[in-house]
Amino acid sequence: MSRVYNFSAGPSMLPEPVLQRARDEMLEWGDTGMSVMEMSHRGKSFVAIAEKAEADLRELLAVPADYKVLFVQGGATGQFAAVPMNLLRGKTTACYVSTGLWSEKAISEAKMYCQVALAASTKEGGYTTIPGRETWNVPADAAYLHYTSNETINGVEFQDIPDANGLPLVCDMSSNILSRPVDVSRYGLIYAGAQKNMGPAGIAVVIVREDLLGQVLPGTPGILDLKKLSDNGSMLNTPPTYNWYLLGLVLEWLKGQGGLAAMEQVNIRKSAKLYAAIDASPFYSNPVEPAYRSRMNVPFRLAKAELEKTFASEAKSAGLVTLEGHRQVGGMRASIYNAMPEAGVDALIAFMGEFERKYG
Ligand SMILES: *Cc1c(COP(=O)(O)O)cnc(C)c1O
Repeated sequence: MSRVYNFSAGPSMLPEPVLQRARDEMLEWGDTGMSVMEMSHRGKSFVAIAEKAEADLRELLAVPADYKVLFVQGGATGQFAAVPMNLLRGKTTACYVSTGLWSEKAISEAKMYCQVALAASTKEGGYTTIPGRETWNVPADAAYLHYTSNETINGVEFQDIPDANGLPLVCDMSSNILSRPVDVSRYGLIYAGAQKNMGPAGIAVVIVREDLLGQVLPGTPGILDLKKLSDNGSMLNTPPTYNWYLLGLVLEWLKGQGGLAAMEQVNIRKSAKLYAAIDASPFYSNPVEPAYRSRMNVPFRLAKAELEKTFASEAKSAGLVTLEGHRQVGGMRASIYNAMPEAGVDALIAFMGEFERKYG
């Protein structure tokens, strides 16, 4: 048996050294005589694991001291609801930018709790660009401005942090968090599910400026109340302990890679060579405006769409798996997060060239 290059959008590849370490520590963590899964979340050992993960995340992202870092359940989807519940703070309108299918999901959930003012949308053009900030309509009385920094399905990524017009800026960073340095102080709240670029499914991270907390919408369940979670060290109830531990191992691995500035250089290189291969060939195409192409998720189509199934199955035989596009958009998609080795991208590019020679 040998490990494949897995281009899944999520759950996605984890760094091999992380899996090896988890294997080595599976039966006994430290001198506890038990696995992390079997520990009390309130015990000394797990609390140390949890605190180390928070400290490493703070270090990697240079999180300012007046921000809380929370480890939560319910995924990014849980935060689609928790964000309005926690951040409306007596207001009735929140402002959203729609740049793809994940923005749309965040918007439709928010509509259960407030009016949504649409600052801008690229739906009409099929979500292939980021609308110029000067075209956005951001009402001054909105509670916050929400955007999705990387659209996992459409392959569109913000390259800069948008100006929030003085409102708290809220970002769904699920699929590009930790792929590059980011100025956390520009945000009111950042959230991200772990299973794209941070760890296994079942845990999500929220980074929130503490002065925004404490004014939840009446009826907010305790488990979505970020102030309650924060006051209880993300242990209002039993947290997903093993996922938290694995996320911590990924953070340690990232530090060993040189942190986010080093990761960004690798991500630029990996994505640039894949887009270059797509652009150089009439057989492959990517619809996204080059300035906003995602470094994490690279959707592409074949000129002969009828060959897409063959492409996926022959790629699989070559050890390159999960290249099918999202079921709502079709085509192919290569997700190349931090844990995808550069050799995996090289192997995909080589395979694409061979496939084109054979069928093009
Ligand atoms: C995957 C994804 C989500 C949903 O994450 P869950 O953890 O499954 O709820 C939300 N936003 C973006 C950008 C995603 O990629």
